[in-house]
Amino acid sequence: MTQHSQRGRDIQGRKSGGKPDFRRRRPAPAATPSSPACCGTNPGQPGLILKCGREKSLLRRHPWVFSGAIESITGSYRSGDTVAVRDAAGRFLAWAAYNPDSQISARVWSWNETEQIDEGFFRRKLAAAIEARRALRIGQDGDGMRLVHGESDGLPGLIVDQYGEVLVLQLGSAGPERWRDTLADTLQALCSPACIYERSDSDGRELEGLPKRCGVLRGTLPDKVEVTEHGLRFSVDVAGGQKTGFYLDQFDNRALTGALAQDKEVLNCFCYTGGFSMYALRGGAKSVLSIDASEGALALARRNVELNGLDGSKAEWQCADVFEALRKLRDQNRKFDLIVLDPPKFAPTAAFAEKAARAYKDINLLGFKLLRPGGLLFTYSCSGGISDELFQKIIAGAALDAGVDAQIVKRLHAAPDHPVLLSFPEGAYLKGLVLRVAG
Ligand code: SAH
Repeated sequence: MTQHSQRGRDIQGRKSGGKPDFRRRRPAPAATPSSPACCGTNPGQPGLILKCGREKSLLRRHPWVFSGAIESITGSYRSGDTVAVRDAAGRFLAWAAYNPDSQISARVWSWNETEQIDEGFFRRKLAAAIEARRALRIGQDGDGMRLVHGESDGLPGLIVDQYGEVLVLQLGSAGPERWRDTLADTLQALCSPACIYERSDSDGRELEGLPKRCGVLRGTLPDKVEVTEHGLRFSVDVAGGQKTGFYLDQFDNRALTGALAQDKEVLNCFCYTGGFSMYALRGGAKSVLSIDASEGALALARRNVELNGLDGSKAEWQCADVFEALRKLRDQNRKFDLIVLDPPKFAPTAAFAEKAARAYKDINLLGFKLLRPGGLLFTYSCSGGISDELFQKIIAGAALDAGVDAQIVKRLHAAPDHPVLLSFPEGAYLKGLVLRVAG
């Protein structure tokens, strides 16, 4: 039954003595407006004026304004300037960093109209991010952590990773780019690091119309940078390594692999500098075969074995394309008890999901085939464009085609220094499954 017919019956129910009692009737509802209430007149305050209805995501506190949502711009702004974002009626929604060169035209700094986006603002935000980690006791099992995780810490586009005495800064959008010096000075004051190094060379910078830039921002970069995790030491190539030099997000997941590696023959694919391999070796693995396409990463991995006094005779390093290497291992009829698949981002956005799904299925199918009965598969996706649900479906398809029965025994995500803001689900990029193949 439609709302309209229910309303009609309601009016009928008010009849008395057969005659309609017009006095008790509610006033007739105003004619349905042709557009929602927000679309009043725009009184012309400065800022980005959104199209009618496009304020909804901001009202839910999602911090991005896409270019297609903008009706008009009052005032003139350059990349990185702070602008007020307003609904179609001119009402304030947020303060944001403007970027005319990006599909994401503005990223929100603050929802509070009275807040000034100035040095004090960044000091408060950075201090809050650092305090949140202290309160969660992050950093008790090592001296590395992500201090700032972009949008999830209310600082869109800013990544700050700590490796002992060195901070690595990654500026991914126009806002933090504009405030680069303030951010560096504030981090220097709050953390007193020996060095702040800038690694603003992520692919995303191109989409933001920003040039790539790397180098020392404050202090001096030590000859050797190391990070300690759960008592294991890792060399970090801050200047030439991937991302900011190390994958801090797998902190807890690597430890879990180590705890289950005793007496196992382990295969670690996309091993980078040997994170999972070090844990497996320390955890008592019988052997660990690690594969990566980067010679530089493998050289650091070998150094990490020595750094930790681990038994190098149990470790084999292969510089190869994992897709090909897995096929070779299958053809050689090799078998393993524990396999880690931690590939790079195959799908940066949902637009790449289909192609990425084929790649995930391929390596996981081969992974299942290489496992002994009762074996464990640690499989990950760090693709923002692949949801948890889709990832699980892909893995289910891979198991089916490999002809194995497998159970999910644990679901994994990034470590808690990579929090996910509820209003920004895109922050939950890393997903992992621990699967046990039937014995
Ligand atoms: N598990 C690692 C991080 C992996 S990052 C850790 O815990 O530190 C992804 C790695 O995949 C990178 O080291 C990159 O060099 C490697 N890589 C990317 N494409 C590859 C391919 N086709 N074959 C082999 N390695 C690849």
